[in-house]
Amino acid sequence: MKTYNVGIIGATGMVGQRFALLLADHPWFNVTALAASARSAGKTYLEAVGPRWAMSDPIPENLEGMTVLDAAADIDKICSAVDFVFCAVDMKKPDILALEEAYAKHDCPVVSNNSANRFTPDVPMIIPELNPEHIDIIPAQRKRLGTKRGFIAVKSNCSLQSYVPALFPLDSEFGVDKCLVCTYQAISGAGKTFERWPEILDNVIPYIGGEEEKSEREPLKIWGKIAGDKIELADSPKFTAQCLRVPVSDGHMAAVFVSFKKKPTKEQILEIWKNFSGVPQKLSLPHAPKQFLNYFEADDMPQTKLNRNLEGGMAVSIGRLREDTQYDYKFVCLSHNTLRGAAGGGVLLAELLCAKGYMD
Ligand code: NAP
Repeated sequence: MKTYNVGIIGATGMVGQRFALLLADHPWFNVTALAASARSAGKTYLEAVGPRWAMSDPIPENLEGMTVLDAAADIDKICSAVDFVFCAVDMKKPDILALEEAYAKHDCPVVSNNSANRFTPDVPMIIPELNPEHIDIIPAQRKRLGTKRGFIAVKSNCSLQSYVPALFPLDSEFGVDKCLVCTYQAISGAGKTFERWPEILDNVIPYIGGEEEKSEREPLKIWGKIAGDKIELADSPKFTAQCLRVPVSDGHMAAVFVSFKKKPTKEQILEIWKNFSGVPQKLSLPHAPKQFLNYFEADDMPQTKLNRNLEGGMAVSIGRLREDTQYDYKFVCLSHNTLRGAAGGGVLLAELLCAKGYMD
């Protein structure tokens, strides 16, 4: 496989740090540019991150001394040093839209973790095992942007990376009708650690701005279909969500209640989960988990601390599937929010785009 030079925009942040670690020994990708805000620009990566480094592994040695560039002011320099960029920045939505489009228009593809472009009709929002065919919208997007190579592809929100993968493969046979979900979300999802957010210890916060809307609406784009030059949202399944912040470092848990158009047996659901695999597994992409959906029989599993790192944090853990009195079934599921839910999901999406020739 060919190798690609890549940049990390937002390299100093929580997700950017994950990208730095995941890309350090990636078989296809070499990090040749790091960028963040003007506050970090001109410093070495080590200086710019400083005490904000929140990963348990140290900063990759080859990145420590690399000079951090200004994501906006140094765009020409960055684009000339890379084949594409990963983007995870904490900025206002209009500024993110402008930044990502500027990179795309410099003919530099953008694999984004940000929410700003998730509902741009010709921007694919992809969970690579579920809707890889949505990358076929990219030629239409390039036409709109007037680019040869440049485009934007995004991954979906971290909250839904456990329950949407569990439900999606059940839909074609049984028709997922409606779903009620409560999420229990880690503090790294807010870019925080316990040191920086002591108020979260011994506490639960029943509000995460914008999260419930994303958790209810984004699945409809994953379920959507390409129609001409846009992706049309599906109008079902219907989702309702409550999202809570809990005192956990990493890993988003979800408690799910679901009804189907045609109720499956428990055995049928378990069989589909066990046998499910997608294009990333078929192509043996470097970050594809071998077994994407993993069911645990024990009543007290999965647990955030024990299971979040399953298959490098790229697999989904499921448990407690049982019939419900008001919905057909209920179960719990878990995924690592900064790995599968953020940087890892971004890296897997980039691997898919490379394998399909979109980064050439
Ligand atoms: P974070 O830890 O607050 O990091 C923010 C990053 O954005 C830093 O690198 C920061 O650089 C950079 N930045 C801020 N203002 C900028 C500007 N004007 N120009 C260029 N760079 C700028 O945030 P995060 O948790 O990594 O989240 C980043 C993005 O990923 C957000 O859109 C978030 O919604 C999304 N996301 C996060 C998670 C998660 O689990 N954390 C999951 C999915 C998606 P400086 O250090 O120079 O300020």
